Amino acid sequence: QSIELANKPDSLKGKTLLITGASDGIGKAAALDFARHGANIILLARNQDKLEQVYDQIESETNTQPIIFPYDLNVLSLEVAKEMTYAIEQEFGSLDGILHNASLLGSKMSISQYPENEWNEVINVNLNSAFLLTQAMLPLIEASDSGRIVFTTSSVGRQGRAFWGAYGVSKFATEGLMQTLAAELGNQTNIRTFAINPGGTRTNMRASAYPGEHPESVPAPEAHMPLYRYLFSDHSQEHNGLSIDAADYLSK
Ligand code: NDP
Repeated sequence: QSIELANKPDSLKGKTLLITGASDGIGKAAALDFARHGANIILLARNQDKLEQVYDQIESETNTQPIIFPYDLNVLSLEVAKEMTYAIEQEFGSLDGILHNASLLGSKMSISQYPENEWNEVINVNLNSAFLLTQAMLPLIEASDSGRIVFTTSSVGRQGRAFWGAYGVSKFATEGLMQTLAAELGNQTNIRTFAINPGGTRTNMRASAYPGEHPESVPAPEAHMPLYRYLFSDHSQEHNGLSIDAADYLSK
């Protein structure tokens, strides 16, 4: 029932939230949904044209004005993450949460064949960038009454599966990062830390991973938004450190 509390149109009003991978798929759906519920959004991804389309849609449909960070997370440094933090502070004066959503699938290949450069890129984008952004932005999020750090995991990050390579390994580590942060921050601060496994969802990544699947056989990203929105709302304050399967909340 508490998830429904976050359906109110003002459930994220006044919050400032960073979404990585906001140009497409689940991140784009979250950016639009959170802005429609009152949040100021910082959109981060590589493709500037796609980010501008999301920007335009948010600007025309809502009373909020987002900002865009066109950036390749493969080359993120702590210094750049701190510059982003400074820019957010200048623009909005606060930061209430991060949705670590950007990911690269990488090749479906055995560990024995996996190319070293691709391994490094997938781990950089899916895992290391989340560490760097979190560390740089923690002081700002700590100042929020209800800070949130939400990671995106996958079933291949809970039980190893052949040929999922760096992607699967990055998701195991993402679960570990989430649990470690939740244990460090849960009692000391107002920050709550979660991981969401969206499960099969109708996006380009899903189509690449399962080319033979009919896209309509899995839910659209929008179907998960009540859960995503709830985790960033004040209503989830009593929880911490949960790794949640979005599929469990689809019909609720
Ligand atoms: P998409 O491929 O549709 O979107 C991925 C997003 O990440 C895009 O906005 C992309 O933008 C961004 N991105 C990719 N590489 C980089 C980079 N180097 N730097 C910055 N941004 C980057 O994926 P989904 O929406 O399907 O996935 C979202 C999350 O959900 C991921 O963490 C994924 O692992 C997870 N997930 C998805 C499932 C599914 O079935 N869809 C199932 C389980 C987990 P751009 O190209 O502009 O950089």
